[in-house]
Amino acid sequence: MIFRQLFEPVSCTYSYILASRRGGEALIIDPVLDQVDRYLRLMEELELNLVKAVDTHLHADHITGLGALRDRTQCITVMGEQSKVDVVSIRVTDGEQLRVEGVVLDAMYTPGHTDDSYSFLCGDRVFTGDTLLIRGTGRTDFQNGDPLAQYESLFGRLLRLPDETLVNPAHDYKGETVSTIGEERTHNPRLQVRSAEEYVELMNNLGQSEDDGCGDPRQHASGPGAGADCTARLGLQRRPGEGTDRRTRRGSDRPARELRARAAW
Ligand code: FE
Repeated sequence: MIFRQLFEPVSCTYSYILASRRGGEALIIDPVLDQVDRYLRLMEELELNLVKAVDTHLHADHITGLGALRDRTQCITVMGEQSKVDVVSIRVTDGEQLRVEGVVLDAMYTPGHTDDSYSFLCGDRVFTGDTLLIRGTGRTDFQNGDPLAQYESLFGRLLRLPDETLVNPAHDYKGETVSTIGEERTHNPRLQVRSAEEYVELMNNLGQSEDDGCGDPRQHASGPGAGADCTARLGLQRRPGEGTDRRTRRGSDRPARELRARAAW
């Protein structure tokens, strides 16, 4: 099994490359547009053939690499069926399996951070997007977020996985790379609640910070117009007949944060 976790330091995003063997088919989860050259170089070095590119949800803090990867490799782009983006090749549903050669992902609909959030279970690990972060959970105050739905996704779905299941989130802001379901159940401060009501209250009173997944409110304020330019954030150039053109890039006023950039491994 080939597994690579790749860090993008501006939005603190983790992307993941999966393949069953050198020279085989590959899949990438949550690619970032600015890192596409790096992904393709690595896949070339490993002689991998990118077949599918998956986003766990519509990302508000960076432009996804889905469109660029599709254009450069002809790979299939994948999101959940709730995605309102009309340029995704395949929409998965809860319980559906996503496959490339020797790799199977089980799609789990885990809304709450957004209404199109999915997690993907792959053997001994789960890719949780921003639903479950290491010692945190994704913010629920924008992009159709819903703390009660997130509670159900966490306690009704993800925390029911075996304790030893590895947790691979879409972001980490403190330098952590991996956790387990058991570790998060015990030590994640957001999960130490006794009821759904308590979790909802906790999330509603957070004073959401940048560190809660997809998090710069200056770029993604809620209210009229928020989330309108999904295509821009998706970085997807529509093909002829697929609708209107991509219009804008994400805001460029995001301050650089002091984060250590980690080398790919
Ligand atoms: Fe997010």
